[in-house]
Amino acid sequence: MVRERSLAILVIIAVMLPSLSIVCLPGASAQDDAADLADLMSEHWNAQNVLDIADRLCQISAAHPSFRVSGSEGADEAADLIWSEMVSYGLNVTNEPFLHSSWTLQEPPVLFSEGDGDLNTSQDQVHFLSFQAEPYSLPTPSGGVLSELVSLPLPEIASPSNVGGRPIDQGAWDEVNITGKVLLMGKEVRWNSIWDQVFKLKLNKERPSAILFHYHYSWMDHAEHYSQSSSGGLPLMVTGPMFWDIGIPVGSVNYSEGMALADLADQGLQVLVNINSTLGSGVHRNIVGDIPSSEPDQPYILVGAHYDTVLTEGYLDNSFGVATVLEIARSVQEMVSSSKIELRYGLRFVAFACEELGMAGSLNYVFKHQAELGMIKAVIIVDSIGSAEMLMTNADPGNDRDLNDLAAASAEEMGINCSYSVTYSSDHAPFIDPEGTAFNLNRYWRMTLELRSVQGVKNVMLFHSTPLTVTEQFGGNYGGIHTVQDSRSGVTEWTHAEDLDAQSQVVALTVLQAAAIELDVPDNTWMYVVAAFVVASLMLAVMVLRH
Ligand SMILES: [Zn+2]
Repeated sequence: MVRERSLAILVIIAVMLPSLSIVCLPGASAQDDAADLADLMSEHWNAQNVLDIADRLCQISAAHPSFRVSGSEGADEAADLIWSEMVSYGLNVTNEPFLHSSWTLQEPPVLFSEGDGDLNTSQDQVHFLSFQAEPYSLPTPSGGVLSELVSLPLPEIASPSNVGGRPIDQGAWDEVNITGKVLLMGKEVRWNSIWDQVFKLKLNKERPSAILFHYHYSWMDHAEHYSQSSSGGLPLMVTGPMFWDIGIPVGSVNYSEGMALADLADQGLQVLVNINSTLGSGVHRNIVGDIPSSEPDQPYILVGAHYDTVLTEGYLDNSFGVATVLEIARSVQEMVSSSKIELRYGLRFVAFACEELGMAGSLNYVFKHQAELGMIKAVIIVDSIGSAEMLMTNADPGNDRDLNDLAAASAEEMGINCSYSVTYSSDHAPFIDPEGTAFNLNRYWRMTLELRSVQGVKNVMLFHSTPLTVTEQFGGNYGGIHTVQDSRSGVTEWTHAEDLDAQSQVVALTVLQAAAIELDVPDNTWMYVVAAFVVASLMLAVMVLRH
């Protein structure tokens, strides 16, 4: 009996040990999770899709004088493209329209100097090819404005950090009457609130027929591209839509053409400015695509990017963000359909309109969904990734899917530095602070979105990158969003395709970690080992018992 019992114990040990070793394998860490999901992602991720969609979005903007300015034809075509992509992936897609000011350029704006005052003679005319309207500029009268060019001096200062450091020479400004003239103005005047205030007083007193912004200072001589403020057509000012109120069309030129124009202003020559734009109220659309969670009624994670532009192709800002969001949607849907993952939370992908107009699209989303903001587990926004250094804002976690941890693990997995930034100028802001963002939007555009006492969402993160602006140097070149350099041809001088790709995958991996459970795929190797152990020990037991 003792012998049989020992044998039985031997058999049990032989059979149980391998099984136990499987059960007791160490639990996965966050970094292991990221690594596993990165492996899975690499099977489903298609980097070429991201480039292709960004390219198609840029083709749309390049085909319209208003590019993809929200509310214009180009923006509408982009919304259609995003819609049909989401539908083709198998997402549940909804259109969420809202009303906002809308604007279209009927033709590319024109600026030329006119030597003899006769528009019928052209040999005395010099065209300024860098000229572009500011978005949401009022039109000039039909046929354009022909008028004397004048300028206002700014104090001598040595660098951007000294802007506002010396007072504007009021006496010199009083000597120039700008009423009815075309005003050539250094846009640096608007970089300081005191200078800006003096400028507004002058405009209110003597209204020019149009304003041409240029770069006044020689330390801006690298700015060979016009650059548009996100405040665009300049209704977005603390004082509200002042340029609309006082009826002044506004445009910009680059540094060298600005210098040439300054000479013309000194000579008292005339210029013709033609901005043929239409301003009204129109429909803007947020496009929403859902992949539901495995269990019903779970909270959801929102992944968003804006598809509108200023008057540029908008490659980094923000075709690449939209394309990244779409490729995440496509690949996650593929993983869910092929039972590679389950979603513990729903995923909602949103392409926002109207970001450049003060985050009006995301704010309208928050307004429409204010009763269910508590159902949002996390918000991940992508805007202008792809330049040299990837940055992310710090999320206020508030729950178990802390985006700070997930983004850090994702960045490490993709071999990218994880640096934090502080900014509120993208679509994450309305989720963090609905009331504050609505207050500004209402003031800028004279609207009445009421979001007082609406609680914001926790665990909100913006992914972006730097350098991005015309004042930030990048590898000896100056690029920048909101300039003509933010295009398929221009962007190659200041960004690299590898950066674009790695950064988009950091976002994808963060989303996957936040929402997905990787399904336990049975490991065949272990099963064979276990089976072999079981068979061997049983045979051994039988042989021993026979003796
Ligand atoms: Zn943007």
